[in-house]
Amino acid sequence: MSALIGIARMAAESPLLEAKRRVAYFELSGKSLLNRCSGRRKIFDWTVNPYRGCEYGCRYCYARYTHEFMELPVEEFETRLFAKTWDEAMWRRDLRRVKAGDTVAFGTATDCYQPAERRYGLMRKMLEGLAGRTGMRIGITTKSDLVTRDADLLVELARRNRVRVFITVTTMNTELARRTEAYAPQPALRMNAAAELARRGLDVGISASPVLPWLTDRQQSLEAVARAAREAGARTFHANPLFLRDSAWAVFLPWLEHEFPHLASRYRERYRLGAHVDTAYRDWLRARVEQIRTRYGLDSRPDAFLSTRPKQLSLFA
Ligand code: SF4
Repeated sequence: MSALIGIARMAAESPLLEAKRRVAYFELSGKSLLNRCSGRRKIFDWTVNPYRGCEYGCRYCYARYTHEFMELPVEEFETRLFAKTWDEAMWRRDLRRVKAGDTVAFGTATDCYQPAERRYGLMRKMLEGLAGRTGMRIGITTKSDLVTRDADLLVELARRNRVRVFITVTTMNTELARRTEAYAPQPALRMNAAAELARRGLDVGISASPVLPWLTDRQQSLEAVARAAREAGARTFHANPLFLRDSAWAVFLPWLEHEFPHLASRYRERYRLGAHVDTAYRDWLRARVEQIRTRYGLDSRPDAFLSTRPKQLSLFA
């Protein structure tokens, strides 16, 4: 076996913080807590993911590949979790690289308010470190109602920055959510969190992504999420199709064959070209979502919010 290098070596050498019945937490050190995005298709300037792996273990999770980087089995994505080492001086140094108008997105790979956050509080510390900053665009994506714990900090940040919290709710069907997202908070709890944040005056978006063909793409299913989003006071609603790279497919397909065996061959056919659905399905879903958005008076896609640079900082005051 070749010697481990880079992040794989750091992961292998990470000290154990705590072992529970289902999961074990390790501490992962690094040179930065902030990642710069690059490339033509980037929609954020910076991303922040305080944890590697995610205890919620959604069957369709696309981020399992991040465990492959550490040369760990993709199945361990939800049980072998890494909390990044907290270093306040490093975070403050990181933030000096962020300019006014930049977009900083929290939770783009793994859920930043997953249960580990209750123990390690990295999000809270990072948000506290942002105090006093102005003119930034801050996006937070989560399935966790724990985000309401930080409503006070978010309200304060939103006075001088543009802040939006995206709560992910793929279905309002509790039974289906229990099967697809077994360890995540129930959909109703997430909507309650959205309502609480909106009540506090925060800008909230609901994401129904990823949309699972034949499971959550029906009009009725998407409308139920959009209706609840509107009732919660959310401003935006978006829903993109499931994306299945090899690492996700390796977990998703066996699960599908067990839970919904009649859909397995249809999924093989739908994803025959690779990780993405074909253009026809994508266009069909886009039109359906647009129509639902219009019906429920919800706003547009999140990247429209995040990628447009401000003309004047006073826009955020
Ligand atoms: S909450 Fe997000 S990151 Fe966590 S397992 Fe589910 S899809 Fe993956």
